[in-house]
Amino acid sequence: MTTSLQTAPRPLANDVGDAHWLPFTAMRQFRSQPMMFVGAEGMYYIAADGRRILDAMAGLWCVNAGHAQPRIVEAIRESAGRLDFVSSFKMSHPGAFELARRLTEVAPEGLDHVFFTNSGSEAVDSALKIARGYHRARGDAGRTKLIGRAKGYHGMGFGGLSVGGIGRHKRDFGPLLPDVAHLSLPYDRSKMGFSRGQPVTGADYADELEALLQVNDPATVAAVIVEPVIGSGGVYPPPTQYLDRLRSICTRHGILLIFDEVITGFGRLGQPFAAQAFGVTPDIITCAKGMTNGAVPMGGVIVSDLVFDAFMAGPPEAIELFHGYTYSGHPLACAAGLAALDTYEELDLFARTAALAPVWEAALHQLKGAPHVVDIRNIGLLGVVELASRPGEPGARGSLCAHSCYEDGVLVRASGDSIVLSPPLIVEEHQIEQIVASIRSGLNSMN
Ligand code: PMP
Repeated sequence: MTTSLQTAPRPLANDVGDAHWLPFTAMRQFRSQPMMFVGAEGMYYIAADGRRILDAMAGLWCVNAGHAQPRIVEAIRESAGRLDFVSSFKMSHPGAFELARRLTEVAPEGLDHVFFTNSGSEAVDSALKIARGYHRARGDAGRTKLIGRAKGYHGMGFGGLSVGGIGRHKRDFGPLLPDVAHLSLPYDRSKMGFSRGQPVTGADYADELEALLQVNDPATVAAVIVEPVIGSGGVYPPPTQYLDRLRSICTRHGILLIFDEVITGFGRLGQPFAAQAFGVTPDIITCAKGMTNGAVPMGGVIVSDLVFDAFMAGPPEAIELFHGYTYSGHPLACAAGLAALDTYEELDLFARTAALAPVWEAALHQLKGAPHVVDIRNIGLLGVVELASRPGEPGARGSLCAHSCYEDGVLVRASGDSIVLSPPLIVEEHQIEQIVASIRSGLNSMN
């Protein structure tokens, strides 16, 4: 049967209307200048106007092995035709168990159990609930407070928003969770600006946690959550020894440490997780994005034996975790996740990233001294070029620079006046040079 949908004329790619309400987007501005993509392969997007655009953002920090990896595409096709859906409430399928097992193989030692979600936001909110549930399971129900950090981004659920540290995200939506405190950003540009990789000073910012625990009875605190490298808040690598100190303070006070590795997971720092890159093991890791190479929405919470065993210690007929999502461990996502792990392994992508990181660092820091540049930070294959704001026009230079790069065939992301970079880990050296040259030309062309 022919339906009207099938016979309706295909809308022009730039005929966008306003039925689709985009996230984090100035809709009216978007409609006047829609940035539309119709295809993607490897390091490139194909724009609606036919241009090939070099993707310096791995989509949105997620397409770690580059776009349309054949093994992943095929796995999704095969899975969709075999098992379209199965609930994960009291039932499952082999792919979910296989992916969980494979994830625990690459996760830090002792993080042996995976709870599946569909996004980073869900992973974070699940992790926060698991942290509170853990203390309750151990008879320590008074531990409910959560500690986040300034500039932290932990997704858009009310839990993640509450522990997050970007004020603009919260302004229109309160009240948020009570009993949340925040550490400050471990960064002082006057002392740490243009550091290459981790700043060597600043570990003592972690002592703020100890100070916070003097004013908040530590026996009331459930968890501390940080991104090992602050991502969306502007790419801030942690000072050396900072995370180690957070770890030891948490351990001393029986507080769970959660690393939100939604961006840093799956090779961005040259190791499967940042936890391994920094040699610090949290109690819980949240992940998403690179888990399926961005190809199917999926997130996960990877928990330690300590946490898991506390839930399992109850009577065998009890439901240990009253929490979950219809699409937890979706067959399509699991197939994509397994194929993504195979692809990362086949390309030896994490080791490749570690080897390429010094080239990336040297290339980015060539922009020191370019017009408007006030700081450059990098680690692994992450980077940011921070610009001085125009007086009275915050964000203008960032968006002008990003626009200029786009016109030049390079997709970067402006976060305020920071140009944020996170290329697919398959990026070649000549493409790194192209990204840097494009930013330089954007900076040279504006006042
Ligand atoms: N945590 C971190 C560290 C993130 O970077 C993000 C997304 N950028 C999230 C959580 C939320 O993930 P999602 O958008 O998949 O909900």
